[in-house]
Amino acid sequence: QVVTRFAPSPTGFLHIGGARTALFNWLYARGRGGKFLLRIEDTDRERSTPEATAAILQGLTWLGLDWDGEPISQFERAPRHAEVALQLLAEGKAYKCFSTQEEIAGFREAARAEGKSTLFRSPWRDADPATYPDRPYVIRIKAPQDGTTVIHDQVQGDVTIRNDQLDDMVLLRSDGTPVYMLAVVVDDHDMGITHVIRGDDHLNNAARQQMVYDAMGWEVPVWAHIPLIHGPDGKKLSKRHGALGAQEYQAMGFPAAGMRNYLARLGWSHGDDEFFTDDQAKAWFDLTGIGKSPARFDMKKLENLCGQHIAVSDDAALRHEIVAYLAAAGLPALSQDQETGLEKAMFCLKDRARTFPELLEKAHFILTERPVEPDAKAQKALETVSNGILSELTPHLQSASWTRNDLEATLGAFAEDHGTKFGKLAGPLRAALAGRAVTPSVFDMMLVLGREETIARLKDAAG
Ligand code: GLU
Repeated sequence: QVVTRFAPSPTGFLHIGGARTALFNWLYARGRGGKFLLRIEDTDRERSTPEATAAILQGLTWLGLDWDGEPISQFERAPRHAEVALQLLAEGKAYKCFSTQEEIAGFREAARAEGKSTLFRSPWRDADPATYPDRPYVIRIKAPQDGTTVIHDQVQGDVTIRNDQLDDMVLLRSDGTPVYMLAVVVDDHDMGITHVIRGDDHLNNAARQQMVYDAMGWEVPVWAHIPLIHGPDGKKLSKRHGALGAQEYQAMGFPAAGMRNYLARLGWSHGDDEFFTDDQAKAWFDLTGIGKSPARFDMKKLENLCGQHIAVSDDAALRHEIVAYLAAAGLPALSQDQETGLEKAMFCLKDRARTFPELLEKAHFILTERPVEPDAKAQKALETVSNGILSELTPHLQSASWTRNDLEATLGAFAEDHGTKFGKLAGPLRAALAGRAVTPSVFDMMLVLGREETIARLKDAAG
């Protein structure tokens, strides 16, 4: 069974790169009937905060990336990490190193002076325990000193590291606390992780981590180190490229489904497919489709995909997502009536909106109340016809049956009778019904508003 994990360090919000890493792991597991686990790497007690953990969980929840079981705290597992270090010590695969910081610094300085490798070689590696002094020590792994370590990476290919470039890494500090590199391996092993999919900034760590797997005789997971995300200019993604926090995208009004689709495409591809559903993504996602070079974040693409997802979303689901968006953006909530109206109007709102703010702009006609306040553009549109014409129209609407066909026929005939075209009346009608120049079609608005409200708004506008 496939088991993947997302292992964020809770030192800040969920970064867009982290969200993508989580998504890849989620897709890989979910597409294979596997498990997707969450581990909070909170061993850095200074920088880890419960607020950051909460923000990360919230971000994942918004994105719909559900994890199996309870999140695991790495810090709480420290005794287990120490146990593994002590086991390696007992088996002679690790040793006590009594070298002090000053001695190590001295060693390095001397090596530098002689033009030799400054990699620290501890004199205690093969020392006789009888010679051990009575002072604090760290536990170091006995790293292989010749040959090579090969990382079989599913994205980068085989990456070979010469073992004479790896030092005897510390496993346990002199205060008995485990180092991060040990914790990751022990946790991944104990959690039964089969595939480690993470940013390629961890590729170098993989060589050291593999040493621990080998020493313990544990099976090495499948590695997949994915290139980082770059900005549109090809430079490492940073604040000046725009929002970095996943949840900022929620507050900007991007739907989660569109965000998932976009993030999945960011560094992974399936032929020429740009738009896809979650089911398709789960079925298609694989490690071979991950690109070797950094993907570039492209806001236009994100917007386009989000528009496509909004267009095919279920009306009630959109309503709920918009309510959550307003809260996330710190905007006023909708009343129950507004929510109901919004859902009823959704069919004519969701077609060309790339974000929820765009959708809500089109929804203005249903969210506003009489008397409708025209904005400047709408006011201009109203001034292109005589006020009289809007009131003359109302008796015709009284007798029309309230179907699209009949409304189209009624308005068409009315325009013709006045020696004009419906197109000339559309602007003023939009202005009267919505107070805006850009709205859904006049007929859609009339259908949603109903006869009474439509006529009342036309009369209001006619003055
Ligand atoms: N905690 C690490 C990070 O946030 C991830 C480590 C891993 O995935 O192995 O970068």
